[in-house]
Amino acid sequence: MSTILPPLKRGDRGADVVELQMRLAGFRGTIPDGDYGPGTEMQVTAFQRAVMRMTAPHGRADAATMAAIGDFARAHPVDFKALRCPCGVCPGFGRGRFKGEYRRPERIEVYNLYEYPGLHRMLLWTYRAAQFYARARNWTLTINSAYRCSVDNADHQRTSTNHHGKAIDIDILGSGGTDRTRCNSLRGILVEQAHAQIGWSALNRKSLEPADIAPTWVHLDVRSYEPKYLADRYFVTNQAALDAIPG
Ligand SMILES: [Zn+2]
Ligand SMILES: [Zn+2]
Repeated sequence: MSTILPPLKRGDRGADVVELQMRLAGFRGTIPDGDYGPGTEMQVTAFQRAVMRMTAPHGRADAATMAAIGDFARAHPVDFKALRCPCGVCPGFGRGRFKGEYRRPERIEVYNLYEYPGLHRMLLWTYRAAQFYARARNWTLTINSAYRCSVDNADHQRTSTNHHGKAIDIDILGSGGTDRTRCNSLRGILVEQAHAQIGWSALNRKSLEPADIAPTWVHLDVRSYEPKYLADRYFVTNQAALDAIPG
């Protein structure tokens, strides 16, 4: 089964556009609403400039661009073993518990107790882009923590449910500055290149924990997205599912 999307262009709509928006989450990034508008065009343009090294990027996701996204995916694999929950009780990505349950009366994402069924695709495609940006700086990225289910939270007296599939913690190995300065640099790169925000104030933006919470790692999450963008189908537990065209 092909994992390469069919060509798409401005004005197109539908599931393939959603998937394109997910795959380019680390290049500007937009809302995965399935509408190939100016935001998506900017994502494609950013990818063509950065990865395909086009001097005159046109923003159309033509066959060459879709093939280049496939090459980009292969060049930046995701180690799913590193994403698994360490609790020893769940099978690795929670047990789908607490759907529709919240820690406080307000039914907002920060209090959502649901164990999402895997890691959000947008996080992992953004991580691929982060690897791409890191290579230019001779850094190697690893994921030191991703899924942490309710059992793992209880074991560590944690209340935050961000890591129920909505977050990854990235470590940076490499030279140049201290661990702290590298983490600050990577946060800056993800704000500038991937349209992430520091904190959670804006809706539908990727979020980074500020340096005072995460000094020596980079925490990236999708907690600020509306529930429709956090549907079960966007969560994956293996590389084949990440690379597949859903649906
Ligand atoms: Zn677990
Ligand atoms: Zn974290």
